[in-house]
Amino acid sequence: MITNNTIDKFKRIETPFYYYDLDVLKSTLDVVKKESDNSGYKAHYAVKANSNPRILKIISSYGLGADCVSFNEISAAIEAGFNPSEIVFAGVGKTDKDINAALSAGIFCFNCESIPEMEVIDELAAKQSKIARIALRINPYVEAHTHKYITTGIEESKFGINTWELDNVIKRLSDFKNLKLIGIHFHIGSQITRMSVFKSLCARINELQVWFASHNIVLEIINVGGGLGIDYENPEKDPDFHEYFSLLHEFIDLLPGQKLHIEPGRSITGQCGSLISKVLFIKNGSNTLFAIIDAGMTDLIRPALYQAHHKIENLTSTGNIFRYDVVGPVCESSDTFAKYIELPETARGDIIAIRSAGAYGEVMASRYNLRDLPKAVFSDEI
Ligand SMILES: *Cc1c(COP(=O)(O)O)cnc(C)c1O
Repeated sequence: MITNNTIDKFKRIETPFYYYDLDVLKSTLDVVKKESDNSGYKAHYAVKANSNPRILKIISSYGLGADCVSFNEISAAIEAGFNPSEIVFAGVGKTDKDINAALSAGIFCFNCESIPEMEVIDELAAKQSKIARIALRINPYVEAHTHKYITTGIEESKFGINTWELDNVIKRLSDFKNLKLIGIHFHIGSQITRMSVFKSLCARINELQVWFASHNIVLEIINVGGGLGIDYENPEKDPDFHEYFSLLHEFIDLLPGQKLHIEPGRSITGQCGSLISKVLFIKNGSNTLFAIIDAGMTDLIRPALYQAHHKIENLTSTGNIFRYDVVGPVCESSDTFAKYIELPETARGDIIAIRSAGAYGEVMASRYNLRDLPKAVFSDEI
């Protein structure tokens, strides 16, 4: 929680910076651990949501595995204490260098997205005299009802293997002497808030299970991916993990010996982070009051990239309510955090918190305009 005491401390720290509330992170992880333990499902944290080393260390200490999309992420995960045997490697464009390094590190599984990728992993594994475990990322044609840039499970998406190609994939498997198919993988999008979407995914998985069984293929792992959305209006509220795990339990027909994997990213780290900034100027437009703050799209690109909404709070004013466009200093019109939002009367020097910024925030920071990268500040350090 951001208390008055915390706000006093913020006043002494150079802005902008990411503030991570470790109590919030740990309470989220407590829930996920409890649900995972009760259900027997294994959660692999999607490292791309937030790969800050301290955050990764805390997550690994709760016994989660890691879902990585580059070898640098795999290294960061190993460095933070994740066991290579609990690391999966996803992504539509894995490089030879990354595949080789992942094979050497002995990761658990490659989530494969195309036949050409399987050919390359097979060839590189043969050169290392290894058998690479793979799961097929299948495109289940389930509409995620989220922003189009973060929808991934529909037909003309670059992600996943289309079901019409599965026959070919199976035929080719016998050619691939250095691949071992161990499971199937899905990831239909991100920031999914309608639970019915996951129910549709479960139904598709059950159909595919029947298809694989009819081809005498035994799958050890069913991996439903990530995507569980968070409530950007209520920054510290966890999504309903219990409902999510219960839904998977109720609607996926696991076969004997199968293990279910999930890959939460945003829902683990989103809640614990806020981007803290100071107001530089209040500028009058013709019809608009602009609050120009010292954080910009280079610190948090989600609003500019996906029209994402973050709750914005003025932590230091209790004045009357006015409406502001909250904008950053970067030379792009899309460098706007929110338009026409209500804030207490805001002045130069006020401290602004952009909430729910713990996922896809710091990791996407850039140095455009040669700005400094935002620093990370942890609740137990101030
Ligand atoms: C991004 C990603 C995730 C995590 O998604 P969230 O919406 O952050 O939970 C999980 N699996 C894969 C394959 C991904 O690409």
